Amino acid sequence: MTAYPNTQLFIDGAWCDSQSGKTIDVVNPATEEVIGTVAHAGIPDLDSALAAAEKGFAVWSATPAFNRSKLMRKAADLLRERASDIAVHMTLEQGKPLTQSKLEVLGAADTIDWFAEEARRTYGQVIPARANGVISMTIKTPVGPVAAFTPWNFPLNQIVRKLSAALATGCSIIVKAPEETPASPAGLIQCFIDAGVPEGVVGLVYGIPAEISEYLIPHPVIRKLTFTGSTPVGKHLASLAGLHMKRATMELGGHAPVMVFDDADIDTALAQIAPHKYRNAGQVCVSPTRFLVQEKVADKFTEGFIAASKDLNVGDGMEESTQMGPLANERRIPAIEGMIADAVEHGGALATGGKRIGNKGYFFEPTVLTDVPTSAKIMNDEPFGPVSVINRYGSRDEILAEANRLPFGLAAYAYTTSSANEQALRSQVQVGMLTINHLGLALPELPFGGIQDSGYGTEGGSEAVEAYLDTRLVTSMNA
Ligand code: NAD
Repeated sequence: MTAYPNTQLFIDGAWCDSQSGKTIDVVNPATEEVIGTVAHAGIPDLDSALAAAEKGFAVWSATPAFNRSKLMRKAADLLRERASDIAVHMTLEQGKPLTQSKLEVLGAADTIDWFAEEARRTYGQVIPARANGVISMTIKTPVGPVAAFTPWNFPLNQIVRKLSAALATGCSIIVKAPEETPASPAGLIQCFIDAGVPEGVVGLVYGIPAEISEYLIPHPVIRKLTFTGSTPVGKHLASLAGLHMKRATMELGGHAPVMVFDDADIDTALAQIAPHKYRNAGQVCVSPTRFLVQEKVADKFTEGFIAASKDLNVGDGMEESTQMGPLANERRIPAIEGMIADAVEHGGALATGGKRIGNKGYFFEPTVLTDVPTSAKIMNDEPFGPVSVINRYGSRDEILAEANRLPFGLAAYAYTTSSANEQALRSQVQVGMLTINHLGLALPELPFGGIQDSGYGTEGGSEAVEAYLDTRLVTSMNA
């Protein structure tokens, strides 16, 4: 196992410190110890990254798709070879259990492979013409240098979809990766470097997120923005992109309902959804948050879910027995405590959990609240932590009304054996991703994204590739 490294910026084909020499400390959330530093980019570093991205775009957009694809596949293979070391760095900086980190790294390699295949299929069209001798065709060309902003909850997964789509289509990219979790993204980028990506095609920077986004998004070199994070920040960045007519993909917050109907197989529902809730300590944009359970099965589901929550082994992600690690950063603790206190003040019942564990490391008890009114904060803002609300409802219509009450529209889950329920869910639930009777999200070939306040665009499936391409018409007539 390699020791936890200090992380530098990657600009114009070289790892470097920031020109100011400034760094930011990296803290292990399980121990609160400073384990390393990350270079803090200032405006002069961003200028270098932009100049490199412009140069890299000229080279990469002229590289045949076949060669881009081959290079990406090589990077994916290197990532698989290095998965164990990168996973250790991820757990040390982010907190999630080592098995979850390893799965994230291996999943990232699969994502690169999938986009590498798509690189060879960015087809245009030939459109039947209205006159003999006319040929009208569309060609797909890369949109240009991309600025990507990614959060700390999935240090690799959040980058790899953006990076792979950009590289597959011939774009260069500057990634502003998370300052809290810098080393595992650097390990990912190193795989592309070792696979032979030309200078300037990929840049990696860290610093003050607002300073970097305010500088990069309006900059004339940047042609596209892609962001994953909270809805308020996303709205701000989308408005900045709009002001400067930049393409944008926005993967924002959610508040995922889990609809459990009277006819559901409760054992299957519990076996799937309880571990899913506590994955990454609930710090997942598609994490189940509002459990909307029909009356007849409410007692059985609630008891089973509480038991699963109590059984969970919370600890340092480096321990083999750990099923849920700490929260990734200290600021999540008061945020979550505040939401729980507010829910109880509004009349909700605390069924289990509710507080920080110990006073070293950002550990938090798996928490279940029941019968929480919609006026409580937690019913309106995503908890982004290991906290669930279980409320009971009489009819399907009441469940659907609650599922659709919020402006978010990211993911929803449902358990039912009735085709009538399934049909109603398909047509009425206002989300970008609905998964019924299984957990079927986040594979690279499937669309991944939200609607309404959860953003726009998708980071999976063929549409994710389209988001990095311009469609241009060429129509010509025989001279
Ligand atoms: P935050 O809103 O301050 O930051 C969220 C992310 O956006 C971070 O990665 C941050 O670096 C980035 N960010 C913030 N301001 C930015 C700016 N002006 N320009 C560019 N990037 C910016 O909150 P936080 O405390 O880091 O996380 C808590 C909240 O963020 C959660 O409640 C959740 O809603 C949201 N979040 C969502 C995801 C997701 O996967 N959709 C991931 C992490 C955080």
